[in-house]
Amino acid sequence: MDEHVIVVGGGIGGLCSGIYLSNKGFQVTIVEKNETLGGKINIINDKDFKFDLTASIVMTPKIYTDVFTDVDKNYKNYFTIMPLSPIYRVFYYDKTYCDFYSENNKMINELEKVFPGSSVEFIEFLSKSYKKYYLSKKKFLNRPMIDINEIINLSSIKSLMEIKPLSNTVSYLSRIINNEKIRNYLIFSTMYIGVDPYKNSNIYTLIPAISHMYGLWYIKGGLYTYIKALEKLFEEMGGKILKHITVDKIIIEDNKIIGVQTERDVLYGDIVVCNADYSYAISNLIEDKYIEKRYTKKKIEKMEYSCSVFILYLGLDKIYKNLKVHNMYLCKNFKESIEGAFEGRIPDELSLYIYYASAIDNNFRENNTSSMNIMLRVPNLSFDNIKYDEKTIKQIRNKIIKTLKNIKGLEDIENHIKYENYLTPKTLRKNYNDYYGNAFGLSHKLSQSIYFRPHIKSEKVKGLYFIGSSTHPGNGASVVIGGSKVLSNLIEKDYKK
Ligand SMILES: Cc1cc2nc3c(=O)[nH]c(=O)nc-3n(C[C@H](O)[C@H](O)[C@H](O)COP(=O)(O)OP(=O)(O)OC[C@H]3O[C@@H](n4cnc5c(N)ncnc54)[C@H](O)[C@@H]3O)c2cc1C
Repeated sequence: MDEHVIVVGGGIGGLCSGIYLSNKGFQVTIVEKNETLGGKINIINDKDFKFDLTASIVMTPKIYTDVFTDVDKNYKNYFTIMPLSPIYRVFYYDKTYCDFYSENNKMINELEKVFPGSSVEFIEFLSKSYKKYYLSKKKFLNRPMIDINEIINLSSIKSLMEIKPLSNTVSYLSRIINNEKIRNYLIFSTMYIGVDPYKNSNIYTLIPAISHMYGLWYIKGGLYTYIKALEKLFEEMGGKILKHITVDKIIIEDNKIIGVQTERDVLYGDIVVCNADYSYAISNLIEDKYIEKRYTKKKIEKMEYSCSVFILYLGLDKIYKNLKVHNMYLCKNFKESIEGAFEGRIPDELSLYIYYASAIDNNFRENNTSSMNIMLRVPNLSFDNIKYDEKTIKQIRNKIIKTLKNIKGLEDIENHIKYENYLTPKTLRKNYNDYYGNAFGLSHKLSQSIYFRPHIKSEKVKGLYFIGSSTHPGNGASVVIGGSKVLSNLIEKDYKK
């Protein structure tokens, strides 16, 4: 195949699509606006402290290694991946904590020790979830979903009914799990994709279920190490990377791709894979007459978006031994702490995710220092009542520190801070062109999922394709990686001579 593919954006979706397409014989050029690839999976490199910028949780490790094995490379020559045990340490407001394991024997022992009698309902949850996962994967996730017949057919409808997606996460879990602390852990885990668990489909309970069935994994050096491995592989395969160049327009003539207009010059190509955020691309890169009726600029503006995040990065001159790699703090007023992000307010009490790679990785703990990311889900920029200015940042920062001090063992944290930095929804919009500074793409509510999510192939323009959080199959590093494989197979089929 001698077609030239231009990939707009070097996020994980752009990189993996580039690798799969290079392997199929296409010539591929990635054009990325920033100085580093990886998009939101990036790094903060201070002279004394290093932080993964956003993503930290590695689920379904096979998808990460498949990118290498699928192109006949040994992933072990590129990065090191290892299982975590426990997968989470969860701290509760009353100074108790529970470790959650993917190994069933350890999980049962821990649950019976901390919450006697609760292990039976937990195992029941896992077993019910496995069936949902099996059906979703087979019927929906590993398919392009560009044709309504992929969903409106007897076998898919039967699977949908078996999945029973209509009741919301909280009501579904309440029917299985009586223990409130375990239930809140599961609810909090479903928020990985930034939807409100009190209003949205219980299908996202698959997230904690998969974490327990397949484990959570850690890539040595953090997730940005994986991006560097992908970059190396892509270049080895002959791919070309242009960094620090913004694409201003996707050039289309007579419903056919011509190339892209960058801030410097025109790049000609036969195919464009747009990895830039879908809503941003529709609003900024594509001429109106080539946009599909379902997703006009007006409609895009009114669609529902995932929530955003505030991340506080702390460089500390101490290593906290009571933290694991992935930790949660769940507050007493749990519902209020969760719903603020979807109702346009910062809650009074906070529930937090704390990422602490320093617990196991010397790359993040040089000279007895450590790096801590604390993440709070917050409203995205479609709520214009929160400005994320210096005053708001200070208020949120102080609330987070106050909350951290409530965790047993972290009471002294304020005395050990040597470096501080923040990420707000504005950072996501400015640096990565996320439409509303939303962290996880378009909301994954049912009416914006599967066939009803923006398609990966343009119906109007020959040669125009999309990959990323806001298109099918959706958000999450592994989901986007899996989507890249589906996309490259689709492009190969379209261009097979
Ligand atoms: C705070 C946070 C935590 C997360 N945690 C996890 C986690 O623990 N585990 C997990 O699996 N997933 C997690 N995710 C989700 C995961 O990070 C995303 O699903 C994934 O990174 C999306 O990749 P992408 O390639 O679609 O998009 P992006 O990373 O947004 O890549 C798009 C790229 O396009 C570039 N671009 C945009 N416009 C232009 C232009 N005009 N010209 C040139 N380039 C352009 C951008 O700079 C960017 O590099 C998290 C996300 C966030 C924000």
